Amino acid sequence: STLFDALKQQPADALLSLIGLYRDDPRPQKLDLGVGVYRDETGATPVLRAVKAAEARLLETQDSKSYLGPEGDIRYTELLQPIVFGKAVPADRLAGVQTPGGTGALRLAAELIAAAQANGKGAGVKVWLGTPTWPNHAPIMAAAGLAVATYRYYDQASQTVLFDEMVEALKGAAAGDIVLLHGCCHNPAGADLDLDQWRAVARLVAERGLIPLIDLAYQGLGDGLEEDATGARLVLDAVPDALLAYSCDKNFGVYRDRVGALYVKAATPARTELIRSNILSLARANWSMPPDHGAALVRIILDDAGLTANWRAELDGMRARINQVRQALAAGDPSLAFLGRQRGMFSLLPLSGEQVGILRRDHAVYMAGSGRVNLAGLTLATVPQLIQSLKAVR
Ligand code: PLP
Repeated sequence: STLFDALKQQPADALLSLIGLYRDDPRPQKLDLGVGVYRDETGATPVLRAVKAAEARLLETQDSKSYLGPEGDIRYTELLQPIVFGKAVPADRLAGVQTPGGTGALRLAAELIAAAQANGKGAGVKVWLGTPTWPNHAPIMAAAGLAVATYRYYDQASQTVLFDEMVEALKGAAAGDIVLLHGCCHNPAGADLDLDQWRAVARLVAERGLIPLIDLAYQGLGDGLEEDATGARLVLDAVPDALLAYSCDKNFGVYRDRVGALYVKAATPARTELIRSNILSLARANWSMPPDHGAALVRIILDDAGLTANWRAELDGMRARINQVRQALAAGDPSLAFLGRQRGMFSLLPLSGEQVGILRRDHAVYMAGSGRVNLAGLTLATVPQLIQSLKAVR
């Protein structure tokens, strides 16, 4: 017997096994609403033209692959900053580092919180997650040794944000607790806070001394780059200390290149430096340095007005397509009207696990067992098919 006998088998990723089932399904009309990436009207997840152009430029101009440093590409995090924060945060109050995707940013945030807690500054700190949320949030926090608490966020059956319940639950949070908020395009619910609700949350976290951790993984895929950051900025403006985990993987379509950033806003320049030194040391112990390629592409794009304009146009196109599919579903069936009010690639259909199974078996419609659908898996041509299939299982 060895040490590793003590390990327990872990469940396979349900969405990955769904991909296999879908691939092996011979029915030509099959619909894949399971995967978590953008698809165009041909079903492809293409490399954006602006990204291809940046890659060509990188190939020509990159003269070394020597190490950068644990902070990654500094110009990348600087160029991203105005897109995320507007002009809201003074530079000496914001520490930003490049991370391997939004996942790396969340993990680094969790490690920072855990490090502060270990030094006695926040014994028993809890991270408050809304339910439902991205299924990786709780494991990431747990992996860093943090305690998780939950607040109910969204009711799948009635398609409503449970704002009063959320506020009541967060009134039970202790000063110093962390509150994770989806900045826009909530995954999986598709339902975001409205502006009044963001303002109320900003007041609540400020009054109670809570620390917001904003997960902004889909900026530009909801209502627009500026619009999608409004809630996050309201909250950041209201508090002395805040964390923001960012992903470029979806809005630049560079998923496998793993492009993210962790930004920490702190009350004073001295504390900003203190936090920066800690996140750099934690990054070193985790991945030493983030992978360069994707962030270099984002940097090249954002450093060039023409490429930036092209990227924005392509992002506008992705957003328009998602929202067009949403509007078509809402117009096609009154019971799907909520999809037209929601934003981002994902929504939760009010279906039981059994109904999800029947949709797969009898209608070749593939979605996560939770009823989460990726609306980018549809086109205007396939919207009626989904509507008919849903009617058949109701
Ligand atoms: N946060 C949310 C809400 C997500 O949906 C995802 C990806 O699905 C991430 C973070 C992580 O993104 P990345 O692929 O950049 O690690």
